[in-house]
Formats: sequence, structure tokens, C-alpha cells
Amino acid sequence: MGCLFCNIISGKTPSTKVFENDKVYAFKDINPQAPFHVLVVHKDHIKNIDELNEKNSCIMSDIFLAIHTIAQQEKLDKGYRVIINNGTAAGQVIWHLHVHILAGKDDLGPMLVQ
Ligand code: 5GP
Ligand code: ZN
Repeated sequence: MGCLFCNIISGKTPSTKVFENDKVYAFKDINPQAPFHVLVVHKDHIKNIDELNEKNSCIMSDIFLAIHTIAQQEKLDKGYRVIINNGTAAGQVIWHLHVHILAGKDDLGPMLVQ
């Protein structure tokens, strides 16, 4: 079995790539919640923010620098939303830290549905 997103990074599981460098991989979400919905993952596997520490915290800067590049590459000039579902109560279902990028409408609506 293993980790789905590690399998996507290695190419064992197919995905639609949007961006890749030596540290980060980004691909289209299989079940998009907005016209533009991309997942950004680090090639080093940690399960979520709870596993960050002083030694591996560059994972977050690597991801967010990639998001900056993706936003320019994909011309997300009007803005975009980034979301991390961290833990079960937040709706995390894939246990490999990932950031959602959502965009493509003039207004993405409220941050949370009440
Ligand atoms: P989470 O709820 O863990 O933050 O988000 C997991 C995301 O992974 C969901 O938005 C879901 O649609 C996406 N996802 C699940 N399985 C696959 C897959 O096999 N391929 C791709 N591209 N996305 C997936
Ligand atoms: Zn993984």
C-alpha cells in the first residue's frame, strides 16, 4: 500500500503535473473544488504540520516558494486561496502533508461554510 502521494511523486500512481522541482511536486486534485485546484507536496514525507520541527521546517518554505512560482506560472493574478487540512477534525484524509491551492473564480466565497 504505502503512501498515495509518495506514489504520485515517484510516478507509480499517475497524476497531472503542474509543477516540479528537486524538492516539491504539484498536481491537479482528482476531485476539484474550484476551477483551479492543485495540491502541492514536498518530496520528503511527513504526515502533517504536527511532524514539523527545527530540522525539517524548510519543507514549508520549499512548498510556499513553489506556490509563489505556480501562481505566476498559472497566472493566478486575481488571487488564490491556500488550505491545509491538518488532522482528522480538519478533514485530512491523505497523511502526507499537502497544501491545496484554489482559484479560478472571481470570488471563492466564504472561507468556511457555517
Ligand atoms: P485532504 O482532505 O487530505 O486535505 O485532501 C486530500 C485531497 O486529495 C482531496 O482533495 C482529494 O480529492 C485528493 N485526492 C485523493 N486521491 C487522489 C488521487 O489519487 N489523485 C489526485 N490527484 N488527488 C487525489
Ligand atoms: Zn508520502
